[in-house]
Amino acid sequence: MNSMRDMIPINQPSIGKEEIEAVVEVLKSGILTEKSGRGPRVLQFEKEFAKFVGAKHAIAVSSGTAALHSSLLAAGIQPGDEVVVPSFTFSATAGAVVLAGGKPAFADIDADTYCITPESIEAVLTRATKAIMPVHMYGLCADMDPIIELAHNRGVVVIEDAAQAHGAEYNGRRVGSLGDVTCFSFYPGKNMTTGEGGMITTNDDDTAEQLKRIRTHGEERPYWVARQGHNYRMPEIAAAIGATQLKKLPGFLQERRNHAEFLSEKLGVLGKLVMPREPAGRKHAWYLFTPRLRGANAGKRNKLVEKLRSKNIACSVYYESPIHMLPYYRDLQSTRRSALPETERACRQVFSLPVHPMLKQNELQYVVEAVKRAI
Ligand SMILES: *Cc1c(COP(=O)(O)O)cnc(C)c1O
Repeated sequence: MNSMRDMIPINQPSIGKEEIEAVVEVLKSGILTEKSGRGPRVLQFEKEFAKFVGAKHAIAVSSGTAALHSSLLAAGIQPGDEVVVPSFTFSATAGAVVLAGGKPAFADIDADTYCITPESIEAVLTRATKAIMPVHMYGLCADMDPIIELAHNRGVVVIEDAAQAHGAEYNGRRVGSLGDVTCFSFYPGKNMTTGEGGMITTNDDDTAEQLKRIRTHGEERPYWVARQGHNYRMPEIAAAIGATQLKKLPGFLQERRNHAEFLSEKLGVLGKLVMPREPAGRKHAWYLFTPRLRGANAGKRNKLVEKLRSKNIACSVYYESPIHMLPYYRDLQSTRRSALPETERACRQVFSLPVHPMLKQNELQYVVEAVKRAI
């Protein structure tokens, strides 16, 4: 059975006939994009997304990276300005800072939540700090209240990288309504998709206006360029897919939660793995289900991953290398960091198992058995 089984993917978008019909409708309508970035489907998707997270504004863009870059530009990041980011994240978080001309300052993570903390942020804050970018790692919201308080006491903007955290909650509020600006990604592996795409949410009217200008070449009105900008528009086809996916998101999240609970229960009893946690007051979005191998070095963890992959389970490591050790960032002069022991330890010990909504019960059972045997 093992060798016959298709690879169980680590993530898989769930696309149904509703998405297909929505795309066909856009093609028939003849409106594929709007020069201002405000086509009818984009407007509808933005309105519904803003409502879903509980924010005043939502601005659709072409990717999660475009969302991060635009938000940094809207915050007025200038060359030499420092932006606090984790090193334990996808490289785009720091990449956006470099793209905006800023200087990433890497803060360490908390060992239980994998997110940066008020203490680790304090350790890298300087007078040059202009923004803090917490990442809601694996779909778990960082401890935002003290981070926002710390930032606002210092006059620093909070831009959240919620590329992995659609639908996550913090003290009863959805991610997207917490910090000054929140960025989402709709890459196909994420909790919901538009093919490629991103969204920015904010309660601030002026920030929303700046973001709309940045999305279309900095234009204040057609062809009237008032500031630096790009072409970061979301196509109408993508927005039509997004509006359909958003309706299904609560169902996707429930499936992810069910799968995470099953894995936690069955694997937690083995005693060899540290299960991912969901602290009180927080609702995990379960983008990834990531246990860690207690006390392990990278070699031992990699062997476990290899064993599971040989059983056709697309077990993956997010992330094998912290950003500060990637060749580009290692050689980049304009970065700063504190000591990052928890970041480096997590890179050696974590591995992620499939938890996505497309998994069937027998596949989950198979994953559990394979992990049991492998450890
Ligand atoms: C996926 C992801 C991004 C980038 O989003 P794209 O839509 O692929 O540009 C940024 N940050 C994190 C943490 C991500 O997981």
